[in-house]
Amino acid sequence: MSQPPSPRFDNSYISLPEHFYAQQKPTPVRAPVLIRINSDLAAQLGISTDWLASAEGLQVLAGNEIASGSVPIATAYAGHQFGNWNPQLGDGRAVLLGEIIGLDGQRYDMQLKGAGRTPFARGGDGRSPLGPVLREYVVSEAMAALGVPTSRSLAAVSTGERVMRDRPQPGGILTRICSSHIRIGTFQYFAGKGDNDAVRTLADHVIARHYPAAGETERPYVALLRAVVTRQAELIAHWQSLGFIHGVMNTDNMLISGETIDYGPCAFMEQYDPDTVFSSIDRGGRYAYVNQPGIGQWNLAWLARVLLPLLDADEDAAVQAAQQAIDDYVTLYQSAYYALMARKLGLAARGETSDALVDELLEQMAAAGADYTLTFRRLAELAGPEGELEGDTVAGLFALPESFASWREKWQQALEQQPGPPAERQQQMLALNPAFIPRNHLVEEAIRAAEDDGNLQPFHDLVDRLAAPGDYRAADARYATPATPAQRVHHTFCGT
Ligand code: AMP
Ligand code: MG
Repeated sequence: MSQPPSPRFDNSYISLPEHFYAQQKPTPVRAPVLIRINSDLAAQLGISTDWLASAEGLQVLAGNEIASGSVPIATAYAGHQFGNWNPQLGDGRAVLLGEIIGLDGQRYDMQLKGAGRTPFARGGDGRSPLGPVLREYVVSEAMAALGVPTSRSLAAVSTGERVMRDRPQPGGILTRICSSHIRIGTFQYFAGKGDNDAVRTLADHVIARHYPAAGETERPYVALLRAVVTRQAELIAHWQSLGFIHGVMNTDNMLISGETIDYGPCAFMEQYDPDTVFSSIDRGGRYAYVNQPGIGQWNLAWLARVLLPLLDADEDAAVQAAQQAIDDYVTLYQSAYYALMARKLGLAARGETSDALVDELLEQMAAAGADYTLTFRRLAELAGPEGELEGDTVAGLFALPESFASWREKWQQALEQQPGPPAERQQQMLALNPAFIPRNHLVEEAIRAAEDDGNLQPFHDLVDRLAAPGDYRAADARYATPATPAQRVHHTFCGT
């Protein structure tokens, strides 16, 4: 029998100057066991699922063997963590195996997270407990299914080793895919050293890789900045529209590609409250739900600042271009957010009416402590030609508060003025308003079963269920049901 083919690597980051990274092989682990392979993603990447599931594949996913064509590195970056400058972070426990060209012709990083110490590990052990690996797998794949730009999870393995945290825990390694791991903090790393040549080299790499259209313009670096600002504004608008709280929006956790990364203490909000914070380390609420759009701008202002020397030979003109891009973020964010929210309500075009409806609905939801996800789902179910949707609905799980009555009248009037058949509109609304999100208590339940009992079934079931978040079946009601007070998770942990 012939061997299934290993991935074909096509590495570009290693051709950047040597101080951009350190060559670093993963540290082998004792007894790796495959937990899950993402075969849909593998197919999109042109990676053989048979190879991933083979003995050789497992050894590569565990970092015990290096696939042919892979030149493993740990990349250098810096960042502002909770507002404080840290000039040297870098991949402390992640190793970039290399890059792959997907069937879509796009370039993707393939990285092992939890693969052992690197020169950037500082005091850390380079490892990850299994819990955070499963958490990242569940939430990143749920985000992808919800249509949010995100890093993906290609595979999860357990290592057969223990990692020491507050107590010994089983270890795990995640294989992470994203269109690159270049962060705002990667630019900051070189700027912090006064190495403007490296900033330019990195910017050129990023333009070629992510923003080729910027390269065609008269001021490519200004166009680059503006393109990143746009993508980040759209990304954060998407998060807000789903009630997603990232939890650790440090500049080293914000990708230049505009994909979500670093699923540490993240969580989806249940009862709508704009001040919601889950992360146990976010004591001041810096990264609360309501603060995310503003933090996005704060982070981008750092990108603008480090790009200044490239923006224009004239210092004043450079500052002006940077300021303009950062100011424009507000409008870009607002229009992306309100357009998404209007569509969630079945209103095709954003306007004064839809903005007002969105604002008023959110006020009422906050006053009623309504479940964010189920409120929108229920509205979608009620927006059909017959009013109530036929078939399975979340009506038994959630009732719209009585206090919404006058808002609903205004909304109905707005809906009646929409073009197009109501049945079609309702289908669009059902697709945009998920029934299933990764509710914290379910994620915790899956992690507990895996860590405490070695039972991975709840994890697999949860991943499977979240793959089609808009298709509600009453048989799966438990996945759509908000936590009871006893089940509610108040704090999430980075798990590093
Ligand atoms: P994170 O909170 O995952 O964004 O990580 C922040 C920084 O700490 C990054 O530079 C990570 O590589 C590093 N880091 C996190 N956990 C570990 C660990 N267990 N060992 C080494 N470095 C780590
Ligand atoms: Mg990080």
